[in-house]
Amino acid sequence: MYDQVLRCPACAAPSLQIGSVATVDAVIRCDNCNFKRDRSPVTGFFDLRLSPPQQERSLLAHELPLPGTAKFRSRVYSANRAMMRQVVRDLRPTTTMDVGCGPGGWGTELRDVCGAYYGLEPSDIPLERTHTSARTTQTLIQYDLDRPVPVQDASVDLLSFIASYDHIPDPGTVLPEFWAKVRPGGHLLINMTNYGTWAKTLINALTHGQRFKHAEGHFRVHSPTTLISEVSSILPDSTAVRVEADYWLAPNIPGPVGRLYVLPGVIRASNAGLKLLINRGLHMRNAGTIMIVAFQKATN
Ligand SMILES: [Zn+2]
Repeated sequence: MYDQVLRCPACAAPSLQIGSVATVDAVIRCDNCNFKRDRSPVTGFFDLRLSPPQQERSLLAHELPLPGTAKFRSRVYSANRAMMRQVVRDLRPTTTMDVGCGPGGWGTELRDVCGAYYGLEPSDIPLERTHTSARTTQTLIQYDLDRPVPVQDASVDLLSFIASYDHIPDPGTVLPEFWAKVRPGGHLLINMTNYGTWAKTLINALTHGQRFKHAEGHFRVHSPTTLISEVSSILPDSTAVRVEADYWLAPNIPGPVGRLYVLPGVIRASNAGLKLLINRGLHMRNAGTIMIVAFQKATN
């Protein structure tokens, strides 16, 4: 049976067959040309790249994480995870294509609400960190950044960028290419976690820009309003249909000060305080946000 979403990276025909993804030794094979790839037993990914990865254009040129407390990170992550599950459940996709999927962890996280999951990743991150549970339940693909995406047009319900949109240097060219893969009436979901941004900005100021790259524009930092404005100008046939945002005043702080978080209420209370301020009309655009914005594609 031909895969309904992928197409051959070598000949572009929609004639890829995948051995059952439930088996570890699955194979992708094109019926139209000689293209064939085994699933990596290490990462669980099918490497559909035809050329070596181009480091300088890596979508996920990732950088050092902020030092900080595990407690803070786990609280932010659990808030983000709950928001994601709720939004994806409401969108009811039968097919999800997650671009910049890293090692594939979100495919596991969302597996009961996202339909068939296709994780696409251009970098070698899967080699560094692998979610073993994703190996045999999801279709995970490494692809070339400088070639057409090996996906059929209008074939997916939900296109997601989960913590990857702000790593795209040129959304004006990248977004339309992926948008063409979404069926009419389908959705785009962008999840951004900017909670560390203002702390990074401060650290960069103190270290003369030595520590983080984003201050030179590697990341674009958005509020929901500025994100909607940017995406709407790139994709005129999209409409924002859902916004979820949570605001985290408490920074992800390291060392002795981080012991404040021994009191679980400190993080929650400070976040609630910031939400209150923002809801009262204080427009703190980049105050440190985790947010999800969903867009729908026009049907005509
Ligand atoms: Zn082929």
